[in-house]
Amino acid sequence: MTPRPFKVIIIGACGLVGSSAFYQAARHCADKLSTPFFKGPSVLAIDQFEEGHTEGSSHGESRITRTAIGEGDEYVQLAQRSHVIWNEIQALTGKQLINVKSTDSVGGLIIGPNDNPAAYHGSQGGFLNETTRIAKDNKISHQRLDNAALARTFPQFKVRDNDEGYCEDSMGYINPDACVKANIKLAQQHGGKLCLGEEVKTFENMADGKIRVITNKSSYITEKLIIAAGPWLSNLLGTEKTAELKVCRQTVCWFEVEKSQREQFTKDKFPTFIWSLDSDNIIYGFPLMGDSTAIKISTESFATVTTPKQVNRTVSEEEKKAIYEKFARYFPGITSNCVKAMTCLYTVAPNFRFVVDFLPHYNNQVIVASTCSGHGAKHAAAIGEALAQQSLLNHSQIPVIKIFGGLFSKQASNTPVLTMK
Ligand SMILES: Cc1cc2nc3c(=O)[nH]c(=O)nc-3n(C[C@H](O)[C@H](O)[C@H](O)COP(=O)(O)OP(=O)(O)OC[C@H]3O[C@@H](n4cnc5c(N)ncnc54)[C@H](O)[C@@H]3O)c2cc1C
Repeated sequence: MTPRPFKVIIIGACGLVGSSAFYQAARHCADKLSTPFFKGPSVLAIDQFEEGHTEGSSHGESRITRTAIGEGDEYVQLAQRSHVIWNEIQALTGKQLINVKSTDSVGGLIIGPNDNPAAYHGSQGGFLNETTRIAKDNKISHQRLDNAALARTFPQFKVRDNDEGYCEDSMGYINPDACVKANIKLAQQHGGKLCLGEEVKTFENMADGKIRVITNKSSYITEKLIIAAGPWLSNLLGTEKTAELKVCRQTVCWFEVEKSQREQFTKDKFPTFIWSLDSDNIIYGFPLMGDSTAIKISTESFATVTTPKQVNRTVSEEEKKAIYEKFARYFPGITSNCVKAMTCLYTVAPNFRFVVDFLPHYNNQVIVASTCSGHGAKHAAAIGEALAQQSLLNHSQIPVIKIFGGLFSKQASNTPVLTMK
């Protein structure tokens, strides 16, 4: 018997966006379609790698989350909805996914110069002030710290004379690896089918209006397709379509904290932070996690434009030293002993925005989602939900295509079927 087509196929099961869409779509289909007339799974998620891989953008223990989003007002609803979803998933799985201010955690802190409107991820009007404005407009619980209060409250940071602080109750971190794992587990519990170690090579329109997805192992028929391929997007769509996106190599390092200082760097005293040093330079970091003696700290780099295939995945001793030298003077308690380092990839869209758009020539059946630019993790749960809703119901509660669409639809292309380069 020919299997019935899938309702939706998701490419990118092991990323934050694809796994979120997988869970939400499987949940929806299990709720709505579990009748005796429908047999077999309605939702398929595919990934070229195995769960827990470190080749893309969604690995490495921690991602900053906050809900007053200085990158723009339109992101607030996504972050807030994502927090609701992560909390629901936490309750369902019993796994800790999100950590914000609580009785045992000081939450998050943004530091920036009060006299220099330091931009970050394309924020308008200075990241610190813009974040504060957005928090006020959206009644997000927060506190501004003047220079003296900042130095007094967080003595671990050697702040400069012109630095001020912003603390938000809903700022902290999510664990991306645990989020992906939980999404996949719940999706499977709702009947979603998962194919790992399988690479999608291409996809095409069929005469009956469905889409055929062709992998290195098989082919599948679906009504809708969600492409959440992260930095591999250009492999699937071709570099012409993705010319406005660039993939940038990032490095993250874990530096050992001096033994005598360690109790100052646990999450009940040390916040997850973003520090705008000047208009082009930020550092960010996290408190000690578990029984680790080293904190994760990093910066952003847009210097090396690369591809997932070409990228150098080794962090050199020079790079570790350069990162250390960038922040060392601001954190007297942290040593130069880098105990762990890894690379990760940012897919950067124009103006640091996201791309969520229909691919032309597929009758609104193929959505591409690259929620990227170094700040997509915190929004992934809500984006995944919106992608699932859009695919299964033809609309989404948060109108992500209206907000982030345009990149592909504005491109003129006469090629109806895309094939691998
Ligand atoms: C170092 C670093 C720090 C960051 N910090 C933050 C932060 O603090 N806060 C924040 O909000 N965001 C942050 N981000 C951004 C955030 O992590 C990303 O926006 C998010 O992880 C993107 O997830 P994704 O699912 O789009 O991509 P990915 O995680 O790369 O997933 C894409 C998946 O698609 C699969 N795939 C691709 N092509 C195919 C194919 N042809 N066939 C089958 N499978 C395929 C891949 O194997 C991969 O598993 C950071 C990113 C990095 C790299």
